[in-house]
Amino acid sequence: MTTYYANHREQMREQNRSYERANRDKRAVYKANWYADNIDRIKMEKHTRVFCSSCGKTICAGWMTEHKKTRAHLANVQRSACREAGVNEFLTYEPNG
Ligand SMILES: [Zn+2]
Repeated sequence: MTTYYANHREQMREQNRSYERANRDKRAVYKANWYADNIDRIKMEKHTRVFCSSCGKTICAGWMTEHKKTRAHLANVQRSACREAGVNEFLTYEPNG
């Protein structure tokens, strides 16, 4: 954190908050228009098929964030890390361990 920011942090935050309050409606309209203009591109990007190199699966790009949290994917990542480290026995994946 820079010294200027540290000294003026609350003042800068209050300026941002007052700007947000003053321009809330304008920003809402802008966001709605932007979304309407870009909806086709967003849908196309979400439906693009991408390859997960850890699992060897082809999945939707929109599902990729959730896929990275799945138990199977995390286990595959751990297996490949063990393989790269030269460990022969696969460790079992423990979600909270
Ligand atoms: Zn995966």
